[in-house]
Amino acid sequence: MPRILDGTRVRDEIKNELKPRVAALAARGRAPGLAVVLVGHDPGSEIYVRNKIKACQELGIYSETLTPPETVTTDEMLGIVEQLNARCEIDGVLVQLPLPRQVNAKRILLAVSPEKDVDGFHPCNVGNLVAGLPGPRACTPAGIIEMLKRYGIQMAGRRAVVVGRSDIVGKPVALLLLHEHATVTICHSKTPDLPSVCREADILVAAIGRAAMITAEYIKPGATIVDVGMNRIDSREEAARIFRNSADKLASFDKKGNVLVGDVDPFDAAEKAGACTPVPGGVGPLTIAMLMSNTVAAAERRAGIC
Ligand code: NAP
Repeated sequence: MPRILDGTRVRDEIKNELKPRVAALAARGRAPGLAVVLVGHDPGSEIYVRNKIKACQELGIYSETLTPPETVTTDEMLGIVEQLNARCEIDGVLVQLPLPRQVNAKRILLAVSPEKDVDGFHPCNVGNLVAGLPGPRACTPAGIIEMLKRYGIQMAGRRAVVVGRSDIVGKPVALLLLHEHATVTICHSKTPDLPSVCREADILVAAIGRAAMITAEYIKPGATIVDVGMNRIDSREEAARIFRNSADKLASFDKKGNVLVGDVDPFDAAEKAGACTPVPGGVGPLTIAMLMSNTVAAAERRAGIC
């Protein structure tokens, strides 16, 4: 059996380390503050935002949620972001994606002050990442590196393959692995013979969004596998196929009407990998922990502590 890289454990460690930093900021006069802008009523986004606010409450971080209507315009969103940029007690501004069609998401993300950009999506902070300069890093990629470090997974000198080239996961995690001195290959939907490229990986990061696509033929024996995928399966037949008719998983499916699966076939990973992240409970919990970490760091920078 591979070593299980437990994201909930790492999340709790990160949160515990943040608590004294939040207390130190509060003792100087003000706890860190995070503002989340949530447009409309997308159920997935509502759950994410609720969890982010809950994490703030647990840590003593001040938070507020702004909820403009689904019909909000780009100009109105720009006004909201500008007001948050100007407010002293707000250290982090997060615009929950996706935004409705009529809103120009790129203009909104560009409007967030780079020093309050706790998602690490602003081009200034993407530039800081590329140049290896300090600044907030995208949360999911930063969480992946934190997890690999805390489990003592060697990155320097190892071959890393990242499947997926999105701006929020694939590209930043590839750059972070490069900064850790891994030899990095980025793959995508046009990569020929993907299984043979993946089989070269000592560290394989799957950020694709396709349920259980990474099967045994993609995995080098003993590799570390980081499964970023979060795919909700609502076909019982597919769930039965992916989970090899597991009674537990099918009972869970029957209860909820769906089941969560990563981008990696869990049984093939269990057979071939040396270490792997489970889904759920692997990468997922780290994203919010790193958002909290970015918010605290932004508050410290603004307070002149670091
Ligand atoms: P995305 O923007 O849709 O990007 C997917 C990437 O996968 C693209 O680069 C795409 O290639 C590539 N791809 C798609 N099909 C492929 C194939 N058959 N072979 C090779 N590459 C293929 O997705 P994302 O936002 O990066 O998210 C990826 C997954 O991670 C999703 O399941 C998402 O839910 C999950 N996620 C989880 C967390 C977390 O906190 N755990 C956070 C963010 C995302 P092209 O560029 O060529 O189209």
